Amino acid sequence: MIPYKHEAFTDFSLEENKRKIKEGIQTVEGYMGEEYPLIVGGERITTEDKIVSYNPANKTEVVGSVSKATRDIAEKAMNIADETFKTWSKIKPETRADVLFKAAAIMRRRKFEFSGLLAKEAGKTWVEADVEAAEAIDFLEYYGRQMLKLKEGYPVESRPGEYNQFNYIPLGVAVVISPWNFPFAIMAGTAVAAMVAGNTVLLKPASTTPIVSYKFVEVLEQAGMPAGVVNFIPGSGAEIGDYLVEHPRTRLISFTGSRDVGLGIVEKSAKLSPGQIWIKRTILEMGGKDTIVVDKEADLELAATSIVKSAFGFSGQKCSACSRAVIVEDVYDQVVARVKELTDELTVGVPDHDEHFMGPVIDGSAYKKIMEYIEIGKGEGELLTGGTGDDSQGFFIQPTVFKDVDPQARIMQEEIFGPVLAITSAKDFDHALEIANNTEYGLTGAVISTNRMNIEKAREEFHVGNLYFNRGCTGAIVGYQPFGGFNMSGTDSKAGGPDYIQLHMQAKTTSEML
Ligand code: NAD
Repeated sequence: MIPYKHEAFTDFSLEENKRKIKEGIQTVEGYMGEEYPLIVGGERITTEDKIVSYNPANKTEVVGSVSKATRDIAEKAMNIADETFKTWSKIKPETRADVLFKAAAIMRRRKFEFSGLLAKEAGKTWVEADVEAAEAIDFLEYYGRQMLKLKEGYPVESRPGEYNQFNYIPLGVAVVISPWNFPFAIMAGTAVAAMVAGNTVLLKPASTTPIVSYKFVEVLEQAGMPAGVVNFIPGSGAEIGDYLVEHPRTRLISFTGSRDVGLGIVEKSAKLSPGQIWIKRTILEMGGKDTIVVDKEADLELAATSIVKSAFGFSGQKCSACSRAVIVEDVYDQVVARVKELTDELTVGVPDHDEHFMGPVIDGSAYKKIMEYIEIGKGEGELLTGGTGDDSQGFFIQPTVFKDVDPQARIMQEEIFGPVLAITSAKDFDHALEIANNTEYGLTGAVISTNRMNIEKAREEFHVGNLYFNRGCTGAIVGYQPFGGFNMSGTDSKAGGPDYIQLHMQAKTTSEML
């Protein structure tokens, strides 16, 4: 087996790659507007009620529509997943991993098409779409290999005359609920982690981006996944989401999304339903309010570029996005001025035609919420640049920076999930760390410093799940920077990490007298 290595990113300065992404988009244009069924036990089910997916850069363009699962269909899917678990959990881990490796190979061959679909459905720029397609492939390659390692179990001691074993076994039916901001990578990663561990899956993708999820389930089928192992059941979070979270046969819930929905899932899943005989396992990856700290001893150009790229990549719609910069006062004016210059150079435009740094935000309600936060920001700091939006054709918002914002201000504390950056100054490095830690979240953070002692202090005291030094705070790579956050950012279940698969399993000890 070739050792795991992350998928290379595409260089779009090369004409050949520009041609390939345009071809990928053309392929997607060939199936725009199509209708897709639910997939339950391999059966295609069509319902009257549909979820329609629109291109956020061109809001009248329909990417496709999917049938919407009802509670009855969710119940049917649960029964099938429960039944399929009896056979799938007994399939050799090698065979389960092979489905992932084969699917990764298919996805690699169709990478530009998937990138094109992400440009259309999620409004991702070429670069962001390509990075996400690479991440989706990485999850399959990495988790497949992790399962192969795990199948041996861990050695434990045995006394003379005794034979002890310690092995991981699957849990049961996993409900996988995924967000729209990484509709391919997170959706695929969370689904296959549960599946390769021997569980069966009820996959409920976000309603704004269901098409890429359907195409992915088709790939799993082509790769040899038996019917009923991953069931595709898009639907309303409140209707089938709640129903499945509360269902007595649900054994595991793997959720990625907002803080409030995540907390609701913790609460509902903790209540016993009639007939339930286990405590439901939950894996919850939630929001962030991520900070880049700039020390006075630092490469200030690196600081400004890291802040701008982390704040505005994918229009700030990453849970890891830099939405706060805390700059030590000695270098504050200099860094702020450079952040403004770099922000003003960014281009915002339609991602499925040309290369831009930023595309639209995901939909009308995100647009409205972000524009409201920009209004709030005007009362909380000085608007340095941006502040405007245009939703006439798509949901475009200019990259927006506020300076001199109080660390307790709303735009410094609440997750906006858009291209809005708040900057504040700190008296010194210790003060900067104190501000960095003053939110309820703890997902990512970065420190730009050349002072070794300060770096070490931050390593101990900056309380986030993913801490980066002298780089931006986005862009974790599967198998290299396992990803997950502290506090209200979730259960710190490190996606793309060496102990992630185990979270989808339970350990069994056997002891035999010889
Ligand atoms: P969201 O919470 O609105 O939705 C996430 C998923 O939950 C969707 O599939 C949605 O349909 C479903 N859902 C909604 N209500 C539900 C309910 N009552 N029961 C069950 N499921 C329900 O989040 P979103 O807007 O799709 O995604 C953005 C959020 O996700 C941000 O807060 C972001 O920070 C977070 N996020 C976190 C990570 C991470 O790894 N920590 C990664 C990506 C996104």
